[in-house]
Amino acid sequence: MAKRDYYEVLGVPRGASNEEIRSAYRRLARKYHPDMNAGNPKSAEEKFKELSEAYEILADQGKRTRYDAQGFEGVATDFGPSGFTWQNFTHVGDIEDLLGGSPFFREWFTGGLNEELLRQSRGGRGRVPFRGGDLEISLRLPLAAAVTGAVRTIEVPHTSDCPDCDGTGAKDGTAFEPCPECDGRGQVRKSQTRGYTQLIQIMECTACHGTGRRIKERCARCHGSGIQRAVQRVEVTVPPGIEDGTVLRLSRQGEGGSGVAPGDLFVQVLLEPSPNFHREGRDVYSETQVPLATGLLGGEVRIPTLTGEAILKVPAGSQPGSQFRLRGEGFPRLRGAERGDHIVTIQVGLPTSLTARQKELLREALGEPPSPSGGKRGLFGRRG
Ligand SMILES: [Zn+2]
Ligand SMILES: [Zn+2]
Repeated sequence: MAKRDYYEVLGVPRGASNEEIRSAYRRLARKYHPDMNAGNPKSAEEKFKELSEAYEILADQGKRTRYDAQGFEGVATDFGPSGFTWQNFTHVGDIEDLLGGSPFFREWFTGGLNEELLRQSRGGRGRVPFRGGDLEISLRLPLAAAVTGAVRTIEVPHTSDCPDCDGTGAKDGTAFEPCPECDGRGQVRKSQTRGYTQLIQIMECTACHGTGRRIKERCARCHGSGIQRAVQRVEVTVPPGIEDGTVLRLSRQGEGGSGVAPGDLFVQVLLEPSPNFHREGRDVYSETQVPLATGLLGGEVRIPTLTGEAILKVPAGSQPGSQFRLRGEGFPRLRGAERGDHIVTIQVGLPTSLTARQKELLREALGEPPSPSGGKRGLFGRRG
């Protein structure tokens, strides 16, 4: 079956806002809730999975940008080799309230995960991310970095397990007491009457999230959150040939902690615009001022390039606005060696003041300027 476009799956236009995407997802998630599709749970599951995959990509600015630019290929590495699985889903929180205690969903979301680890990770907190959040950060670099590539160490905010309580939030990781709501069982029974049928549902205790315990004394270091916030230094390698706005993905460098896999770090590379250089694909453009004498008689000028300097031979009689090509002084292809060209436009500078002697010599060489009233015609006058 051909993969459907993510916007089509969620039924939103390509320009949809985050809020529109979220509400479309919630609406469809409710529609394909297994409780509403008891007769056909298998196709409901497939639908729900398709929706969630689309939402996973479109709800995340970094992923959405890559999908917009390159389609499925741009987000291929966000999932495992066999594609999207529930372990890749990081937005359970957005539909948690719709899922209720449905064992159906529980199985989907926890399939393949270590249940015990999950239970432990629930310590004193409410939400259980199955994977840590993604982090997005931007990195400003000079334009020349697109030629040479760059390695930078950046500092990213990072969360990890509090070391004093092992991420449980309880003092020493042990100060728990049984949950009073469920008497430590982790489950509660609810009965409901529908017509002639009485339904007894066993649900996870919402007070303790199924752990059967609550914190008796909080960890002093993290005040019960179980999370430690720190700054992590991450080395980012920017390849030569990078375009402005490219997003690099550093897998597993995002948020982690509490036994969940860390998310990814997305680094958006912003190339500082240069007042001297203008980039067009792999070529770079600049302008240079040459003295009148060089324009008239020819000569060599030094041209600042992206990475240093080059000597340009200006032929005699070069007109203002003439363009010259410095081969191989432009930008490389991404991760490639072959470089584009540097195109130099020359402007010829006219002297603003001349000495009497210079004026005399110029009159001698060029003749008197022509006059509209038909005076003596000079060198330039003969052209028209
Ligand atoms: Zn409980
Ligand atoms: Zn702690």
